[in-house]
Amino acid sequence: MYTHANNVSTSQPSCLPAFQWKLWIYTNYDCNLRCSYCVAKSSPNALRRAIGLANAQRLVDEAVTLGFDEVFFTGGEPFILKEIYEMLAYSSARIKTSVLTNAMLFQNSRLEQLLAIAPGNDNLILQVSLDGGEPEHHDFYRGKGSWQKTVDSIQTLQRHGLKIRLSTTETPVNTGHLDLVCGLHRSLGIPESDHFIRPLAKRGYSKEGLDLDMGNLLPEVTVNLDGVFWHPLSTDADMQVSKSIFPLSTAVQRIQEQLDAIASTGRASLMTFT
Ligand code: SF4
Repeated sequence: MYTHANNVSTSQPSCLPAFQWKLWIYTNYDCNLRCSYCVAKSSPNALRRAIGLANAQRLVDEAVTLGFDEVFFTGGEPFILKEIYEMLAYSSARIKTSVLTNAMLFQNSRLEQLLAIAPGNDNLILQVSLDGGEPEHHDFYRGKGSWQKTVDSIQTLQRHGLKIRLSTTETPVNTGHLDLVCGLHRSLGIPESDHFIRPLAKRGYSKEGLDLDMGNLLPEVTVNLDGVFWHPLSTDADMQVSKSIFPLSTAVQRIQEQLDAIASTGRASLMTFT
């Protein structure tokens, strides 16, 4: 996995610049975990702030019309929501779709509902957070016992034919042991191209890590109930592009104009961070 810089190129206002345009949808903010580095400040006590099925479907439709490359569903833990399966089925029928999850809720009816839409669906991938090849490198931030449950769940999902991508946050605890998580993903049959390592960011609950904002991040259009944001790293006010979700094209136009302004300086280098 890779966090790397991209030079921003200029673009015509009427078409999308030549990089991967991603739409991120914050489905909800509550979560079964309370990770101490959570940039979204999610926890079991967080307000749900659910985007809702109708909004999610309209966002997917507008993203397809605008020519986006991929839609990501994130939270919170999206699989807390009853309507997440319908959201994913709708989106993956129209565009490449990823859903971020800690993979700890896939038992009984949740697993059955996922299996009803996922296996054999080449447009849908589950992106699972896994910070270590050994429990202590993951559980330090995410809670005791979470590593084992996540690894067990990954194997269950794989047995049922689901596509898994792994996302690792590099922290002071695991930074000297990333070879172990790479060894684990290989042993699980997950290729290098489906393993991402990104640095810790100082946002939300995280008090350590990189300072990232609209000035050094390549945009990835992000929506929650409050509007549109520059990047899924944060839905804080300083990252907000628009207070209206719809039409999505208005916020995209603003982002394009800002990218054009950055590119016109001739010295822009923005980091990808997902
Ligand atoms: S980092 Fe992910 S799993 Fe952990 S509390 Fe935040 S949303 Fe939940």
